Parts: sequence; C-alpha cells; structure tokens
Amino acid sequence: MTPNDPSTDQLDAIRARIAHTAKIARRNPGDVTLIAVSKTKPEGAIRPLLAAGHRDFGENRVQEAQAKWPALQEAYPGTRLHLIGQLQSNKAADAVALADAIHAVDRPSLVTALARAMDASGRRPDCFLQVNIGEEPQKGGCAIADLPTLLDQARKEDLPVAGLMCIPPADLEAAPYFALLAKIARDHGVTGLSMGMSDDFETAVMLGATHVRIGSALFGARA
Ligand SMILES: *Cc1c(COP(=O)(O)O)cnc(C)c1O
Repeated sequence: MTPNDPSTDQLDAIRARIAHTAKIARRNPGDVTLIAVSKTKPEGAIRPLLAAGHRDFGENRVQEAQAKWPALQEAYPGTRLHLIGQLQSNKAADAVALADAIHAVDRPSLVTALARAMDASGRRPDCFLQVNIGEEPQKGGCAIADLPTLLDQARKEDLPVAGLMCIPPADLEAAPYFALLAKIARDHGVTGLSMGMSDDFETAVMLGATHVRIGSALFGARA
C-alpha cells in the first residue's frame, strides 16, 4: 500500500461528500453507512481500504465473496460483508454463513430459504427487501404492490428486516424513485434504506439513504 493509494483518496472524498450532504439535509452523517462495492476487484485493491479503517464492503456473487472474504475478515476484525446481488435460493445457506447483511431479498421462496438457513446456523444477517421501484421487467426486486405481503411474510418468519433496497432505472433522474422507496418504508414501519450508487449517492443521502453502495467511484471502472 502506498500512503496515497487512489482508492483511499477516493474514500476520503466520498466520505466528505456524504458528510456534507447529510449536513445540508439535517441528517447525522453517522447514520449513513458507506458500503464499498468490491465486486470483481482483487484483494490487492481492497486491502488499502481495510488498512485505512474501512469495514463495510459489498459483493454481488456468493462464490466470489467466499473466495475473497474469509481471509480478509480474519485479518481485519469487525469487517462487515454485504451481499448486494440477486441471490438464488439454493445459495441461501452459503449467504447466511458468510454475510452480515443481505440486500436483495425479493421473493417468498428466498425469504423461506433464508429463514431456514438462519434457524439452522444461528447466524442472523440483516435483511433488506428489494423493491423493483421503476417496475422494470428485467430488474430484480418485488413489485411495489407485492411488498406488503413479502414484508408480512418476512416478519412472520422472523427474518431480521433492516430495511428496503432499490436500484432505480438507469438514465432517469433517481430522486423520485428514492423518494418513493422512502415513502413505502415509512408507510410500513421500516427504517433502513439501501439506495444510492456512484452516480447518485448524494441524491440518495438527501432523501434518507442509510446505506449507499459505491463501487466505481471508489475503485475505478470495472472491466
Ligand atoms: C455494482 C453494484 C453497485 C455499485 O455500483 P457503482 O455504480 O459501481 O457504484 C451498487 N449496487 C448494486 C446492487 C450493484 O450491483
């Protein structure tokens, strides 16, 4: 690691932007968790951030996370791994064993699979229910109309529901989608909001994000 590793410079810059935005939104910057999305990035790119004290990281794929993270978690205690990608039900046990938070819980079969895996393992990662906020056919997330039922089920099956998550449509202004997710969360007594990525995290913080998921602005573009 060099003292001025570009990713740690970016980390400082992004933290400052989050803090500034939180302040003008009259929010506490400490209420916004920056998740450094390290998918596709090698260990060598991740270690400088860990050495600089960063502890929240996001990965999309269970297999990739299994290969990269156990050693890093051992080397840097307190590291929290967030699984942010679509999750197959047959990977639920692996996800529960590995993750501290799961951000793409979007259907009844996955709720049940995660609840079973938690009962079997005794580990209880935070769960975010993903909403397909732009009603896009190709996107993951439950339909807005199905969220109340999915949330009821998650609560009945005792999943630790920490919040809602969304990925707004690409190339459209994100603010109305973030505002809608925040309203749905409020209406249903859910407190966490996992929303905002490299291009729109300040808008998300302005509208109440508690978790922003930032990859390319930290690590550079993915191959
Ligand atoms: C890759 C990814 C991100 C990070 O995207 P960037 O634009 O690189 O910041 C955030 N959330 C999810 C679900 C992702 O898959």
